[in-house]
Parts: sequence; C-alpha cells; structure tokens
Amino acid sequence: MKKQFAVVGLGRFGGSVCKELYSMGHEVLAIDTNEDRVHDFANFSTHAVVANATDENTLLSLGIRNFEYVIVAIGDNIQASILCTLLLKELNVKHVWVKAQNNYHHKVVEKIGADRIIHPEKDMGVRIAHYLVSEKIIDYIELSPDYSIMELIASHKVANKTIQKLDIRAKYGCTILGIKRGEDVIITPFPDQLILEKDILILIGHNNDLKKFEEEGI
Ligand code: ADP
Repeated sequence: MKKQFAVVGLGRFGGSVCKELYSMGHEVLAIDTNEDRVHDFANFSTHAVVANATDENTLLSLGIRNFEYVIVAIGDNIQASILCTLLLKELNVKHVWVKAQNNYHHKVVEKIGADRIIHPEKDMGVRIAHYLVSEKIIDYIELSPDYSIMELIASHKVANKTIQKLDIRAKYGCTILGIKRGEDVIITPFPDQLILEKDILILIGHNNDLKKFEEEGI
C-alpha cells in the first residue's frame, strides 16, 4: 500500500531515507532549507521544497498534517530538530520519527512526543561490531536491551536436519522466524522444514540465548 511520507533534512541520513522510500514507490515530500540539497532531490522525491521546518505556518502551508509519517532528519542543529518535532506533534502528525544526535536530544524529543527515535551511527556501530566478532553473524537488530533478532549462517552442524530435530527453542530458547535460501525467504517455517548448509536462519530471542546458540548450536 502506498503511504505518504515527509522527510525533513536531506543530509546523509534523511537523504537516503527519502531516496529509498521513493524508489519503493511511496509518495515522499522532501524538505530542506538548503536550496542545493533540495535541487539534488528533485528526481528522488515526489516533491522537493526549500522550506524552514521550524516555522509553523510553513509546515501548515505544506499540508504536513496530511502526512502519515514525518521523519525529522535535521542533523547538528538540535534546537531546530526539537522545535520541528514539537510543531509536528502539536499539529497532530501521527508518526513523527526523529534522528537523535545524542542522549540529551533523545530525552527531549521523547518528552515532547516523538514516536520513534533513531540513532543511526550508534545502531549501525552495534550491528557492525556483531558481524566483526563472528563470521556466522550476518545481521543483528537490537529490539530492546535484552532481546534481538539475529541472522546466522547454517553450518554443517545443523544442515540436513529438520527444525523439530534441532529443537532450538527447547534447547536454546530462541525461535526461528524465517530462513533465507538464495533469493527465497521461508517465513515462519514448519517444524518439518529441512535446513540446508548456507541457509541463513533469522532468529529472535534473549541476547544470552542467541549468543549461546551462536557459540554452541550452529
Ligand atoms: P546527516 O548527519 O544525516 O548527514 P546533516 O547535518 O548533513 O545530516 O543534514 C541535515 C540537513 O537538515 C541539512 O541538509 C540541513 O540543511 C537541514 N536542515 C537544518 N535545519 C533545517 C530546518 N529548520 N528545516 C529544514 N531543513 C533543515
């Protein structure tokens, strides 16, 4: 289903969010105070406008209230990011996602109602650290401080066995959400699903359980 997004701030983060949403076929309004940046996004957004997103009247005239999601990706100007977030929530935008620069910024936008707060550098750093320490880990997404989703490569240890035989949930407390096999993804596989070597297992669980499975089970 096509959704309507507005992206405020077309730096590295906001810019790549904007391009990706647009390439996925969504409607994207791209906003930045910098004319050159806006010009660069003319072909990568539905509408690219030069505007100051800390001005309420500007936001109103852009019809920002009609957007389901607004991503605030204003970089170093924390004050502008906070003010913009506050205005968007006052205008009743349903989903306001904010890129935070630091913990102080995070706390403030959380207080004023940001619906989701993203720390791209920090999150990516955590993910990269996990790939670095283990050749088995393909991807890692932190869901909370205790729970994560992890993608692991199936070794000969688990190959040609069914999920039931491996009994990962009982032995390790983690659940297989899906299996990536080449271009295919097997979602919520049945217990009789055979695992092949080089399959990528998508697992969810407590960090300790995932670690144990990664070290001993696969
Ligand atoms: P990143 O770290 O993601 O590369 P940048 O700091 O380079 O972020 O980019 C932030 C963008 O936000 C810049 O292009 C800047 O012009 C834009 N910006 C800053 N303040 C405002 C504002 N009040 N309204 C709209 N865009 C803004």
